[in-house]
Amino acid sequence: SEARLAQASRMEALGRLAGGIAHDFNNILQAVQGGITLASRRLTHEAPQIRRYLDLAASAAERGASVTGRLLTFARRVELRSEPVPPAPFLEGLAAFLGPVMGANVTLTLQVVPELPPLFADRSQLEAVLVNLANNARDAMPAGGTLVISAEAVDSPGSQDAPPGLPPGCYLRLSVIDDGEGMSAEVLERVTEPFFTTKPKGQGTGLGLSMARGFAEQSGGGLSIRSAPGRGTTVSLWLPRAPAGLAPVTEATDATRAAPA
Ligand code: ADP
Repeated sequence: SEARLAQASRMEALGRLAGGIAHDFNNILQAVQGGITLASRRLTHEAPQIRRYLDLAASAAERGASVTGRLLTFARRVELRSEPVPPAPFLEGLAAFLGPVMGANVTLTLQVVPELPPLFADRSQLEAVLVNLANNARDAMPAGGTLVISAEAVDSPGSQDAPPGLPPGCYLRLSVIDDGEGMSAEVLERVTEPFFTTKPKGQGTGLGLSMARGFAEQSGGGLSIRSAPGRGTTVSLWLPRAPAGLAPVTEATDATRAAPA
C-alpha cells in the first residue's frame, strides 16, 4: 500500500503540474497565434514563400494547442471523489503502515477523540496528503522525535487557529504534530507557495504543503499551520463533516485492505 500511496501522490503532483503548465503554455500559444495573425494581415501577395512559412507556424501552434488541451483533460482527472470517512478506523489503518515507514527513532502516536462523526473527503487523496505531512514531520526530526496524528471535532467560528476564510460550520480537524526543528516566521509565511522548499536540490519538490492546502480547500475546508523554531510544527487539515443521512463506509480503510496479510 506504500507503493500505491506513493503512486497516488505522484499522480496528484503530476496532475497539478500538468494543469499549471497547460495553463501557462496556452497563454504563450495565444501570443504566438496572435503574432502570426498580425504578420499574415500585413503580407502582400508578392510574398507567397513567407505566407507558406507563416501557415506552417500557425498549424504548429494549433497542434500545440491540442496538446495543452489534452494535458488539461488529464489534469482534471485529479478531481476529488468525496465520501464519508470515519476518522478512527481510517487513521488506525494509516498508522499501521506509517509507523514502520517513519523509522525506528520516530514514535508515532494516534490521538483520536472517541465517537467522532465521519468527515467528507476523497479517501485516497487524504491518505496521500497525510503521508506527505508525515514525511515532512520526519524530515524535521533528523535525530528522532514524536509524531502525533490527532483527530477532533471543531466548530468555525469559535476555534483558535481556524484558517482565514474558512466557511462557518462543523469540521473534523486532523493534525500532524511533530516536535522537530520548526520553522522561522519567514519560512512559515511562504510554505504553502507552490515550489517553495528549503530542502536540498532533489530532495524536496516544494509541492507538499501547497497540495495539502489545495486539497483541504477543494474539499470545502482549509489548512492551518503553527510552528515555532526548535519546538515543532502542527499542520492541521480542517475537513467538513459528512452530510447528515449519508451512511459512513464501515469497511476497512484502503490502507488496511491493501496491506499484505
Ligand atoms: P517539500 O517538503 O518538498 O520541501 P513542502 O511544501 O511539503 O515541500 O514544504 C515546504 C517547506 O516547508 C519545507 O521545505 C520545509 O522548509 C517546511 N516544512 C514543511 N513541513 C515542515 C515541518 N513539519 N517542520 C518544519 N518545516 C517544515
